[in-house]
Amino acid sequence: MKEPFYLTTAIAYTSGRPHIGNTYEIILSDAIARFKREQGYDVFFQTGTDEHGIKIEEKAEAAGVTPQEFVDGVAAQIRANWDLMNTTYDKFIRTTDEDHVRRVQDIFRRFYEQGDIYKGEYEGWYCTPCESFWTESQLVDGKCPDCGRPVTKQKEEAYFFNMKKYEQRLIDYIEEHPDFIQPESRRNEMLNNFLRPGLQDLCVSRTSFKWGIPVDFDPKHVIYVWVDALSNYITSLGYEALGESSGMYRKYWPATHIIGKDILRFHTIYWPIFLMALGEPLPKKVFGHPWLLVDNGKMSKSIGNVIYAEDLVEAFGVDAVRYFCLHEMPFAQDGNITWELVIERINSDLANVLGNLVSRTIAMCNKYFDGVISNPRVYDPVDEGLISTALAAR
Ligand SMILES: [Zn+2]
Repeated sequence: MKEPFYLTTAIAYTSGRPHIGNTYEIILSDAIARFKREQGYDVFFQTGTDEHGIKIEEKAEAAGVTPQEFVDGVAAQIRANWDLMNTTYDKFIRTTDEDHVRRVQDIFRRFYEQGDIYKGEYEGWYCTPCESFWTESQLVDGKCPDCGRPVTKQKEEAYFFNMKKYEQRLIDYIEEHPDFIQPESRRNEMLNNFLRPGLQDLCVSRTSFKWGIPVDFDPKHVIYVWVDALSNYITSLGYEALGESSGMYRKYWPATHIIGKDILRFHTIYWPIFLMALGEPLPKKVFGHPWLLVDNGKMSKSIGNVIYAEDLVEAFGVDAVRYFCLHEMPFAQDGNITWELVIERINSDLANVLGNLVSRTIAMCNKYFDGVISNPRVYDPVDEGLISTALAAR
């Protein structure tokens, strides 16, 4: 029987069209999934979309559609982009999927019933026209970062997750499993900057917006982002918090997670703690990949420097774009993309080096073997000498 290997990307937020920096993650993960299949693993490769939250509620309203219509549109765009890039995911989960919604409600209920979640008060800076809460650090010059108007300190009823209860167990786990968080520099950052100074309890519900999964025993609350979004990795396989989980879940969990470095904290602190609370195994590995920058700066619509995979593919073809992204990203440092860099890379690596190799190989094949290509995977006793020499030289 083949050994199972469960690989996930983060789920993409459906607030807008994905740019090449977002597409990078699915390309990287796809390369890993293909490699693992080639090595003989039974791979289950998952991606999907994160579709709830106030930002989507607002964008839908601005576009004059319902939130569901809005996310249907963007999720389709994201999926089309992943498909254009010739990625081989086995499942595309959406957090608006009915079975995900029900399973997240069960997870929330279980946390509450076993005393990991309690009802308290969320205090933050509130902008009345925007109906939004902001943290101190999100404010711009002490004002609302969205509209620039003054904010007031307000409270709302909310549920909180007791993070402290699991803090020491998680520190021990990370220390005993040096490979759990990759790259290593990020592991030290999580330990020293977040875990060792002590965790705050996490606010896991909101009443100030509606577009989310309702708490089924207290429906004026919606489940706030992390319990909803992170659970996708197990709900998709058929995990049941209040009953028996599926065979798929038992076969494939735990996963290897590929995520952007900006959400590493949520995946290496909150997510493992949720899993500990559920009594489930922690992920095998969480890899926080670097960013693909444009001209060494962040891609942003307001700056107008956004590059889209669709445009690159139209100019250069899918494989060349995949090659560029994989080549240009070092393991732990940000990579860089510009149209000039893509052209240069394709000309030098693909046209010149690879093109030359292919051209010479074909010429020699014609010259010495009458253009006949034999199956290189045939094994003959004569190969034994070469194989044992190679193995002995390792
Ligand atoms: Zn505002």
